[in-house]
Amino acid sequence: MKKIILVSAIIALIVSFFVFDLHQYLDFAYIKSKQQAIAAYYQANPLQSIIIFFAVYVLATSFSIPGASILSLLAGAIFGLFLGSFLVIFAATIGATIAFWLARYLLGNTIQERYADKLKTINAGVEKDGAFYLLTLRLLPIFPFFIINVLMGLTPIRTITYVVTSFFGMLAGTMIYVNVGTQLANLESVSGILTPKIWGAFILLAFFPWIAKFIINSIKNRRIYAGFNKPKSFDYNLAVIGAGSAGLVSSYIAAAVKAKVVLIEKHKMGGDCLNTGCVPSKALIRSAKFISQVNHAEKYGFKNAKVDFDFKDVMSRVQGVIKDIEPHDSVERYTSLGVECMQGEAKLKNPWTVEVNSKSFTSKNIILATGAEPFVPPIPGLDKINYYTSDTIWNIEELPKNMAVLGGGPIGCELAQCFARLGAQVTLVEMAPRIMLMEDTEIASMVEKSLIADGVNLLTNHTASEIRQGEVRQNEGIDTLVCTNDGEEKLVPFDALLVAVGRKARGSDVWSENLNVEQRKNGTLEVNEFLQTNYPNIYACGDVTGPYQLTHAAAHQAWYSSVNSLFGAFKKFRVDYSVIPWCTFTEPEVAHVGLNEQQAKDKNIEYEVSRFDIAELDRAIADEEAHGIVKVLTKPGKDKILGVTIVGDHAGDLISEYVTAMKHGLGLNKILGTIHIYPTLAEANKYAAGEWKRAHTPERLLSWIEKFHTYARK
Ligand SMILES: Cc1cc2nc3c(=O)[nH]c(=O)nc-3n(C[C@H](O)[C@H](O)[C@H](O)COP(=O)(O)OP(=O)(O)OC[C@H]3O[C@@H](n4cnc5c(N)ncnc54)[C@H](O)[C@@H]3O)c2cc1C
Repeated sequence: MKKIILVSAIIALIVSFFVFDLHQYLDFAYIKSKQQAIAAYYQANPLQSIIIFFAVYVLATSFSIPGASILSLLAGAIFGLFLGSFLVIFAATIGATIAFWLARYLLGNTIQERYADKLKTINAGVEKDGAFYLLTLRLLPIFPFFIINVLMGLTPIRTITYVVTSFFGMLAGTMIYVNVGTQLANLESVSGILTPKIWGAFILLAFFPWIAKFIINSIKNRRIYAGFNKPKSFDYNLAVIGAGSAGLVSSYIAAAVKAKVVLIEKHKMGGDCLNTGCVPSKALIRSAKFISQVNHAEKYGFKNAKVDFDFKDVMSRVQGVIKDIEPHDSVERYTSLGVECMQGEAKLKNPWTVEVNSKSFTSKNIILATGAEPFVPPIPGLDKINYYTSDTIWNIEELPKNMAVLGGGPIGCELAQCFARLGAQVTLVEMAPRIMLMEDTEIASMVEKSLIADGVNLLTNHTASEIRQGEVRQNEGIDTLVCTNDGEEKLVPFDALLVAVGRKARGSDVWSENLNVEQRKNGTLEVNEFLQTNYPNIYACGDVTGPYQLTHAAAHQAWYSSVNSLFGAFKKFRVDYSVIPWCTFTEPEVAHVGLNEQQAKDKNIEYEVSRFDIAELDRAIADEEAHGIVKVLTKPGKDKILGVTIVGDHAGDLISEYVTAMKHGLGLNKILGTIHIYPTLAEANKYAAGEWKRAHTPERLLSWIEKFHTYARK
């Protein structure tokens, strides 16, 4: 209502300006004819004249009324160059700021919310380069100022940046106009002010900030590359170090666009995902799920079922799955795609020279895709025992009797559940009050319940403080993990310890000492929004830079790093992290995209929650998988999806529908209006949208419709 009143007032003001013919007073011929009289009034009432002039100028610019240039000339004619310029620049800045605020207050939020996805790139550009854009617009007199004021109000530029830049951007133009105004009597028309010489000066000024930026960047680059001899020509367009998810995709894209690309891998093609990460863990999860289903045979109508198995066979199946997938990431495949594959450890000798197996070659661009490795905390006694990490657990030959798992993140939870289902007595130790900290508490507690039901001994709020070696207890383990909880010691005996407390970036040994590739505090590589390190021709993607440690996030970044490195001279793309989904493959699976409730609260974002209980879903009931939830966060009163969490069977697959919706700005109404096959788990997505719709039933309209039906029956 407030906004409507304000808009009406502004419209009324502008309309009355024209209806009452007020614009005649801001006409060049008029002020020229009245110059003597106005000057005489100023002589008699200097302060009053200044106040009136200032107020009129502020009003005209605030409400985008044409006439600012005429007023500037008048200022020169009456007040002279210095006082005139002083008054005009301050009045213009205040007026421009009011116009900017009005536009932001009346339209800014609506436009930003409505076109959030489309404006993302523009907003990012304005946040980074806003002052440069504004300065250019202010300096070039081809853009009407009132349009600049309104447009800037719709962008996320900070008010202080806007005010300061506007002040300095308008200064030159103001002084030129006011100066010409001092000769008002000799001036024939306003258009006569902009002579070719003045135009030239304006254009030079407008390009000055960009030229300055170019020079600053060149100086920065010169400094960073100082001491290195840039080769005159290069052996490759792109050298990619590391053949994991990030490196494979980067090199594939480069080859697809016909660049000469070399991919170097020191260990195994496919990196962690294929050899020690996603693939083996998902293969083991499948075997563990099978045995869990067998152990619950009665649920499926069987009196009982029993499986004899040898743990070694389960682990060889895991290796078999890796072997089956290996060809997808193999040297043969990538060579056939046009990538030159090299086996060996790569070392960066300078920003363009890579050494592999004592041979050096040059590349115009380099992508560091060296991944991450398990982080092993400095727990006293840990270095004295043979513990496992996600790198080594796949070589385990015997099913442990007592297994301790350190860490309640995705890797710790997935593997703890697997080993418990296969028959180990697993204790999961987590120092936080709960597991899966990146999910909402209610979601994490669903997984906790499931782990406990599978026999996992869950110790949250427990900090591992020491490993005591060789404390044999009967049938209980060989070593002991000492944990503290509220000052009390808890002993966890184990014969196998899996350390899964996080992963740290690999890579500082990739470059020689004369290079100083910047790293963040946590060891990941510092990159800009184009994925460039501090050496602009060296890019990074995947786990080595983060922020996500996921295969599909690595592949997503790979596109940006290879395209930006090869075509950055023409156009660079800012990496877009707005819709990154992930899934923890415990049972139940937990899949997630966008905001969860906790994040929305932390960021003070208003939201509504719609929930659908998968226990109600026909297919889930038929499959004995009737548990879990689809939880959707939407903008209050709107069907715009802010985030989704799905807990349940195949949640990782189900979330894709919401990922597509979020990526392409489709709301819950669109999901509700889409046919889903009956009976499928995917129907849960539609029912969650239905829950939202039910909560937003147009009650008033329905009561009218009811009246219509009553009337129709008569
Ligand atoms: C147990 C586990 C389960 C996982 N499950 C999933 C999952 O279900 N879904 C998911 O999305 N993600 C999962 N991940 C994460 C996923 O594996 C990683 O995000 C992904 O592998 C990262 O790919 P990358 O290319 O950045 O690094 P990596 O796969 O680690 O590849 C980096 C490669 O660089 C090589 N290298 C390093 N230094 C050099 C050098 N100097 N010269 C030559 N080569 C070098 C390494 O040998 C390695 O092969 C899991 C991880 C683990 C550990």
